[in-house]
Amino acid sequence: MFVDIHTHSAPDADSPAIQNLTFTEAGKVFASAQKGLFSVGFHPWFANEFSEKFMLQLEKWASDDRLALIGECGLDKNSKVSLQEQIDVFQQQIRLSEKIQKPLIIHCVGCFNELFDLKKTIKPQQRWIIHGFRGKPQLAAQALKIGCFLSFGEHFNPESVRLTPIDKLLIETDKSSLPIEELYNQIAILKEIETSKLTAGELIYKSFNSK
Ligand SMILES: [Zn+2]
Repeated sequence: MFVDIHTHSAPDADSPAIQNLTFTEAGKVFASAQKGLFSVGFHPWFANEFSEKFMLQLEKWASDDRLALIGECGLDKNSKVSLQEQIDVFQQQIRLSEKIQKPLIIHCVGCFNELFDLKKTIKPQQRWIIHGFRGKPQLAAQALKIGCFLSFGEHFNPESVRLTPIDKLLIETDKSSLPIEELYNQIAILKEIETSKLTAGELIYKSFNSK
C-alpha cells in the first residue's frame, strides 16, 4: 500500500493519500460528503492571516473523521511573518492537535532549533511529522532522537533516509508530479528492503480510515 502522507493534489479515487487543503477548499470539502483524508492548517508563510475565527473553524473541522492531520504548520525562516508570530500561531495548532488527538504535519525551513525546543518543552503526545524532509543526517538524527517522524519527498538526502528507522519513515509527493510508487521504490532500494516493508504511512492511514 503506497500511502502518500502529504499531497496538494486530489488523489485518484482508490489511492491512499492525505490531501492538504487550503481553508477555502476545506470549507467545501467538509460541507460535502466527499470521501478521503485531509489536512488543514495555518502555513508559516501565511501565519499573519491567522485569526480566532479561523482557529474556531479549524477546531470544528477537526471533529470530522476525514480531518487526519493538522497542518501543514510550522516555522520558516523565509516567511515574511516574524518568527515570534509564526511560533504563536504554531503553538495554537500544537494545542489543538493535543486537544483533538490528531498528529501535526510540519513544514520547517531553517528553524529546526526552535522546532526541537518546542517539542522538548511541550512534550506532545501526538505524532509530529516533519514533511518534505531534506536535512542532512545529523539533523535527521536530532529529529528522530526526540521522536519526530520524517516524511521524504522528491528531494531527500539519501544518508538521512538510510538512518531513519522504517517505523518513523513516511513518504509523500507534496507538489511533485512523481508517482508515489516511484518514491517508495527509490527509498526501498536505498534501505535495501522490499517496498512492502515501508508500512509506517499505512499504519497512520489505516488508523484514520478504520473510524
Ligand atoms: Zn506541502
